[in-house]
Amino acid sequence: MKKQYYVNGDWKTAEKFADLHSPYSKEVIAQIPQATREEVDQAIDIAYNTRKQMEELTAYERAAILEHIAQLFIENRQKAAEIISLEAAKPMKFALGEIDRTIETYKFAAEEAKRLTGEMIPMDAAKNGANRFGYTIEQPLGVIGAITPFNFPQNLVAHKVGPAIAAGNTIVLKPASQTPLSALFLAELIDQTALPKGAFNVITGSGRTVGDTLVTSDKVKMITFTGSPSVGIGIRNKAGLKKVALELGSNAGLIIDKNVDLSQIVPKCVAGAFSNQGQVCISLQRTYVMDELFDEFIEQFTAAAKQLVIGSPLAETTDISAMINPDEQERALSWVQEAAQNGAEIVTGGVIENGVFLPTILTNVDSALKVSCQEVFAPIVVVNRISSVEEGIAAINDSNYGLQAGIFTNDIQTAFKASKEFEVGGVMINDIPTYRVDQMPYGGVKESGTGKEGLKYAIHEMTETKLVVWNQN
Ligand code: NAP
Repeated sequence: MKKQYYVNGDWKTAEKFADLHSPYSKEVIAQIPQATREEVDQAIDIAYNTRKQMEELTAYERAAILEHIAQLFIENRQKAAEIISLEAAKPMKFALGEIDRTIETYKFAAEEAKRLTGEMIPMDAAKNGANRFGYTIEQPLGVIGAITPFNFPQNLVAHKVGPAIAAGNTIVLKPASQTPLSALFLAELIDQTALPKGAFNVITGSGRTVGDTLVTSDKVKMITFTGSPSVGIGIRNKAGLKKVALELGSNAGLIIDKNVDLSQIVPKCVAGAFSNQGQVCISLQRTYVMDELFDEFIEQFTAAAKQLVIGSPLAETTDISAMINPDEQERALSWVQEAAQNGAEIVTGGVIENGVFLPTILTNVDSALKVSCQEVFAPIVVVNRISSVEEGIAAINDSNYGLQAGIFTNDIQTAFKASKEFEVGGVMINDIPTYRVDQMPYGGVKESGTGKEGLKYAIHEMTETKLVVWNQN
């Protein structure tokens, strides 16, 4: 029951422990070591001292290690998914899906490790550049501090560990306090590979102690953070000159134009709005439907939402389980109540039954209400009526966030207009904004963050471009 954290290839114990509860059954599932600042500093020192060893690995060796990690996840697929399901209440079907994506993420990282190149610079294109030969090389940064959220405890960790290894860096990982078991399981797997000991370390404990020590350490050259905007902004303000990549939240929006086939679209919207209890950074939160299809969409969407199976995350058939903790469920409930008191209609849901927040659809929601303008991070979706696509684009852009947006339309010009005008990092034509595969460039604008993930792009963030110029004069 008492877990240990992982530094320099050793399992370490701490003086203090915190109980980890299952979000669904509320039972204590483990006791998690709470590292002190000194213990975090020791882990950073180890990662710092291992950086030369890591730098010396060839691309072939780094790729082989990443392929080995992918292979170990293939062999441990069920176990890794059960850990996610237990600690995060993610229904098994989605937890297995997350492990499948994790395997792909490490495979992409292995492939990209072999493609890490610089570029030739045409020096003689400048008046003073004759007889000079220039090129760039991409060098590892050294120690990467990775701070991760609870909602994809294995794949979002892979989005940091994969590119860090591919680029030849060392890592100190601080997982979310609610989901440390997945990160510690990753350590068990990585321990079986040829990665030099000390190149990958996992430290558990609070964000304020462990996270803050990573953010303020001079030996950490980059913080890669995925989590809430408020914590991300705080990190940026404290990080000084180190590189910072921030993957933050959003209130993702979708437009449904007239003349589309709703039978194809509704199942996607159900998945986009309610998967993982809506606790997805690109969860479908705001849907704008053209007048002509509005009533039909509400009818089909509501009927489909009511079909979802509610229950234990460990059951194979479950679609929806408990949110990450009771306080979060109460917070979501209060936002729905605020909406209802201000003219919104609750079409379905809006209640907690047997410890589970039911899938909730709201209509006629004012854009200033929290369920619309803030990140709801719960199984709640707003569906509002629009009379033109322009109105929908304006509504989607009327947000502090800008991660991804989607549009279903059969009109080429409309699709093109939306792709140009949506103020987001990624536009999905004829798909929900929740669509993501792991090699694509992924990251937001506005308060949704800075920097891109997706292996090739994250690797670039995790290297320093060095210029070399040979003078042949
Ligand atoms: P969170 O509360 O911001 O926590 C994220 C991580 O930051 C955790 O490991 C947390 O540790 C740590 N942390 C907390 N305070 C810190 C501090 N002062 N200094 C350094 N680290 C600190 O987020 P969450 O609730 O786990 O995750 C949900 C959020 O993540 C949502 O906003 C969601 O949109 C966002 N997200 C974004 C993406 C994306 O790719 N854009 C993907 C997934 C999730 P503790 O757990 O110990 O507090």
